[in-house]
Amino acid sequence: MILTITLNPSMDYIYHIDHFNLGKQNRFNTPTKMPGGKGINASRTIASLNTEVLAFIFLGGTNGKIIYKELQKEKFSNYHIKIEEESRNAITIMHDNETHTEIVEKGPLISEEKKIETFNSILEIISANHINIVSVNGSVNSENEFFYNELLEVLRTKINHEIIILMDVSKEKLKNIVNKSKYRPDFIKPNLFEFGELYDKEITEKSEVIEMLKLHNIDIPYVLVSCGGDGAVAKMKNKIYDVSIPSIQLVNPTGSGDATVGGVAYSFENHFSDEEILRQAMACGVANAMESGVGVVSQENVNAISKQITIKEV
Ligand code: ADP
Repeated sequence: MILTITLNPSMDYIYHIDHFNLGKQNRFNTPTKMPGGKGINASRTIASLNTEVLAFIFLGGTNGKIIYKELQKEKFSNYHIKIEEESRNAITIMHDNETHTEIVEKGPLISEEKKIETFNSILEIISANHINIVSVNGSVNSENEFFYNELLEVLRTKINHEIIILMDVSKEKLKNIVNKSKYRPDFIKPNLFEFGELYDKEITEKSEVIEMLKLHNIDIPYVLVSCGGDGAVAKMKNKIYDVSIPSIQLVNPTGSGDATVGGVAYSFENHFSDEEILRQAMACGVANAMESGVGVVSQENVNAISKQITIKEV
């Protein structure tokens, strides 16, 4: 079983419109609705690949109840900690060809008491289920600055068996993990923009990612910098790869990064080689972009796309 951790789940609403009029009234058809948050999306991908996954989440308020009810329809199980604050809404508007605009609420602050409850519950779940793969996905309130550093320390020092830790976090949290954490994750997946933020630099090209990865030796074995429709650049231990993907009929790329992380978690669970990890990760990201649902992939598409991924050492 794989464990995903999402401290900021949301109720996601995806709207489609040909042209979005900023500052004017826009009329939409009924949106696609589903529980979201990076770890929930990744869990959906893992479950689509017929692998057992448990999503650890925070839930609160009326929205929390809606999310809980909707989660009962999913193919993965969940464990939730009840919080006082309202769980979030996240709105995606697909418009003007391939543009998507997101309106995302900030997450609740985690109190010291909730933090201890969270750490204890996570440790219990991992030990009771002998979980080897833990994926920590998404944001946490900016005031909980070192929450993920503390979580890493707890996971690395309080579990008696080896675990692989994936962290899909961004902004200051990513900087804190890469630059200030004694305890290290095994894998991170910034997208192009988030990777640039790590160095306070705007990065738009794969060639710049390759240059930066060669210049800064990030002390994390697996670094996958996803580059949207351009594929990815990956550092797998001491090798760097340029990974290309086939062109597809794009439906909705929201959650492609989460599906990519789901694909990596699945790969580690199945002891894949580095090349197989990259194929599976990219195939899941691309397969997600071919569906309207977020984190949804079809096994058939994943199998077909993984054969069309090109991996070149650089
Ligand atoms: P994030 O969702 O975290 O911003 P990306 O947009 O980089 O991450 O997407 C992750 C992966 O999903 C990419 O590396 C690629 O494999 C796939 N993907 C994303 N956007 C597209 C797209 N427009 N067409 C095909 N594949 C895509």
